[in-house]
Amino acid sequence: MAGILIVAEQLDGALREVSQELVGAAVSIKDQVGGPVQVLVIGADPDALASGVNLEGVDEILTIQTPSDHFDPLIYEEAIVTAGVQSKPSVVLIGHTSSGMAYGAAVGARLGSGFASDVFILGHDGDELIATRSAYGNKVEMEMGFSGKGVVVLTLRGATFEPPEGAGSAGTMAVDLDVTSIVGASTHVEYQEAPPSDIDITKADFILSVGRGIQDKDNLPRFEALADKVGATFGCSRPIVDSGWLPKPHQVGQSGKVASNCQLYFALGISGAVQHLFGMKHVDTIIAVNTDPEAPIFNVATYGTTVDLFELTDALERHFN
Ligand SMILES: Cc1cc2nc3c(=O)[nH]c(=O)nc-3n(C[C@H](O)[C@H](O)[C@H](O)COP(=O)(O)OP(=O)(O)OC[C@H]3O[C@@H](n4cnc5c(N)ncnc54)[C@H](O)[C@@H]3O)c2cc1C
Repeated sequence: MAGILIVAEQLDGALREVSQELVGAAVSIKDQVGGPVQVLVIGADPDALASGVNLEGVDEILTIQTPSDHFDPLIYEEAIVTAGVQSKPSVVLIGHTSSGMAYGAAVGARLGSGFASDVFILGHDGDELIATRSAYGNKVEMEMGFSGKGVVVLTLRGATFEPPEGAGSAGTMAVDLDVTSIVGASTHVEYQEAPPSDIDITKADFILSVGRGIQDKDNLPRFEALADKVGATFGCSRPIVDSGWLPKPHQVGQSGKVASNCQLYFALGISGAVQHLFGMKHVDTIIAVNTDPEAPIFNVATYGTTVDLFELTDALERHFN
């Protein structure tokens, strides 16, 4: 077994950014793993998506045609196992996304592989592949080796690995698999576009985010005004969205948006739960304001203070108004 098989991810016929990030991750370990880098594209018109993953370092693009672009984990599982049995890669890379999580572990089990999820660093110890992931609520980083495993399946965290910049010249090959006989566990009802928003957390370079520490919906406007005043995009933690205080596009985190381009993240009254950290812990400069000195946000903060966020906001308003 040799080589790396990447599973491209698409949403309703459009390639998702994590697909190119997986290629970047594969290229970073290609010399140590050896063998070809192959990208598997699954969809109604996989050839149309192939050019998006034909990047520097890719040796071959495999395609499997499905009756529609709607995601079905059983079809993905079968497609990846079929491609894996034919290509015999030593590493399979999948996005750690809601789709990837739906089939990644099943693929690992069927291939009899080593498995790790939500991996954010790939490295080597001699000949052995080492995958780093968090454990114990993000309090420790765990380096995992897979000795004795011929194949390793990994789901990789999004917005973590850099896609290659150059274009590739890989050829495309269709994998022979009739997916029409696969009876899915789910039925696609309809595809709903998220409501349009002028907020794009993924593109913002400066985000001021509020969490449950702001206590009341009536307090929101002053933080929104402060964000506006200092030129920050207004973000929030999930409870603020779940309470209906702000619409979903403001949410930072695992089930919200990743602050991919953010340089400065200002967190007011956010505890730093692992799901929130998922969306912002990589940011260069993080300023955390939280009265609880044990709050996990301080584990990732560049600067932190335990002053009351309302007192600090009073002072900032005096300064900026
Ligand atoms: C599957 C799943 C997905 C999830 N996805 C997300 C996600 O995408 N994004 C996300 O954010 N969460 C997500 N969550 C929820 C997450 O687990 C936490 O519940 C959430 O992040 C907590 O939000 P918070 O920090 O605002 O609230 P809390 O955890 O309640 O923290 C509030 C903080 O405010 C501080 N505080 C209170 N008053 C003040 C004050 N006056 N001054 C300063 N500090 C003060 C407190 O000390 C506390 O630390 C997800 C959970 C699950 C299970």
